[in-house]
Amino acid sequence: MKYISMMNLDGRIVIPKEICRKFNIEKGNKIEIVTVDDSEQIIFKKINPSCVICGAEKYLIKVKDKFICESCAEKAAKKQD
Ligand SMILES: [Zn+2]
Repeated sequence: MKYISMMNLDGRIVIPKEICRKFNIEKGNKIEIVTVDDSEQIIFKKINPSCVICGAEKYLIKVKDKFICESCAEKAAKKQD
């Protein structure tokens, strides 16, 4: 795939919808930007969401714009009883 995107005045670049769909990128996802030495290449890499408490990447529940795993959610719920 090859797309052209223009940087706006704030320095923001829009990632085309087709790429967002293909890589399952949604609003709030973090993107790692890597430069390649001795080239003009810039790599955008999706960072998979993880639990804000333990770092787990599976069984996540989205709470506002953050993620928490089911295990940490259960522990948090028990402490509130
Ligand atoms: Zn967790």
